[in-house]
Amino acid sequence: MDSFAALSLFDMLSGLRRGDFSAVELTRACLARVERLEPALHTLITYTPELALEQAGAADRRYAEWRRDDPSAAWNLPPLLGIPVMIKDVLCLKGVRTTCGSKILENFIPPYTATAVQRLLDAGVAVVGKSNTDEYAMGSSTENSAYGPTHNPWDLQRVPGGSSGGSAAAVAARLVPLATGTDTGGSIRQPASYCGVTGLKPTYGRVSRYGLVAYGSSLDAVGGFARSAAEVALMVHTMAGHDPLDSTSAALPVPSYGLEGASLKGVRIGVPAEYFIEGIQPEVEQAVRAAITQMERLGAAVQPVSLPHTAYALPVYYLIAPAEASANLARYDGVRFGLRESGDAMWDVFFHSRGAGFGPEVKRRIMLGTYALSAGYYDAYYGQAQKVRTLIKQDFEQAFDMVDMVACPVAPSTAFKLGEHTDDPLAMYLEDVFTLPANLAGVPGLTFPVGFDARGLPVGMQLMGPHYKEDSLLRAAHAYQHVTDWHMRSPDLSI
Ligand code: GLN
Repeated sequence: MDSFAALSLFDMLSGLRRGDFSAVELTRACLARVERLEPALHTLITYTPELALEQAGAADRRYAEWRRDDPSAAWNLPPLLGIPVMIKDVLCLKGVRTTCGSKILENFIPPYTATAVQRLLDAGVAVVGKSNTDEYAMGSSTENSAYGPTHNPWDLQRVPGGSSGGSAAAVAARLVPLATGTDTGGSIRQPASYCGVTGLKPTYGRVSRYGLVAYGSSLDAVGGFARSAAEVALMVHTMAGHDPLDSTSAALPVPSYGLEGASLKGVRIGVPAEYFIEGIQPEVEQAVRAAITQMERLGAAVQPVSLPHTAYALPVYYLIAPAEASANLARYDGVRFGLRESGDAMWDVFFHSRGAGFGPEVKRRIMLGTYALSAGYYDAYYGQAQKVRTLIKQDFEQAFDMVDMVACPVAPSTAFKLGEHTDDPLAMYLEDVFTLPANLAGVPGLTFPVGFDARGLPVGMQLMGPHYKEDSLLRAAHAYQHVTDWHMRSPDLSI
């Protein structure tokens, strides 16, 4: 593997500080790898090499100033200075087109930057590109992108998961050490699992949604991918914290995500029986159970817990998410921005623009959501779903009275084949059964690799914890990663 690609985020940061290499050299190596592997993987919708090199140049000037003025004060340096990253293409970056994986926004250049992205820019990153996503983040395989699917680096015939498949595949293929994702029903955790990387969906409200193109506003969370818990911790910590531009962002201090000395001693881990259902791939269950046993050996106190309303998460989510999406997507009418098709009257313009601009899955969701919200059906569907959502939230509250976190699988299977579920939306939705409850309850979820199946595909495990307890999940995963090396494995990409 290219020598730079083998480095961890922390190796990169210390190499930059020591002056072993410059940010421009690091970025050039990363761009060369992207250019070599991108034809096979297709992780990006928009490639931004000039921007990355310009930002890397600025990072080098900052390092030079620091070396000249006060090299002892490393804490004065922005925490991610000179680190190449990818940004999921549903997060706005001023001046760079943001498509949301949709034809309707093919030429949309946002006039502002999302807060989470701005915080990464302020921390000194170099943006290599906008990564591939299912259209409006609706999907579990990245196959709903209007720009073509991303391929899983562990097996190019398979999906990387979705919707943040471009970001997960890019980190797995060691194109970049960090990439952002968003998670409305699993879109960080499931692709992290399929690609064998670590992915964190923070608590709802922990990271600002300002500048994230909305899918399901009560569910959307911004987070990210890295190889390890320690690396993703640094990235999400940089993005987290109150933002006056997002009224749902939590006005709470963000604790340090420093993981030094993290231990599983005395950590109470609950194992919910409802997540080990019939039909789950046996190797997934085995790997997850083995990881739980390993955690127990490291000092965790493991006990069964029950999350009795888990089975309702799927129907509840597939009412609430499309309902919110149908309202959020009403703004794409061909008049204000995005694609415009002509028509004789106003309604024709709306009709033709939306007809030509949205793909089939987005249309399906808009129809489902509009139906669920329509007069006469609202109480029976949307209202009822909200009530059951409260029960799901209460399940977690009760479990977290007894344990610090729960451990379970991320998805029923490892990465499936491209095209395997495209004609069967319900089979696709079933991939989300284990990830949807965290979004409905607003709790944080962390995924990390715990093994491989017989085909050599990564298996992930999920930890979910109480609101705002991302740090506990990260510490538990870090303690596990300290004694295991699943997260260090990388796919063979000598293509
Ligand atoms: N697969 C789920 C959906 O299609 C979740 C997507 C997401 O988290 N953005 O809605």
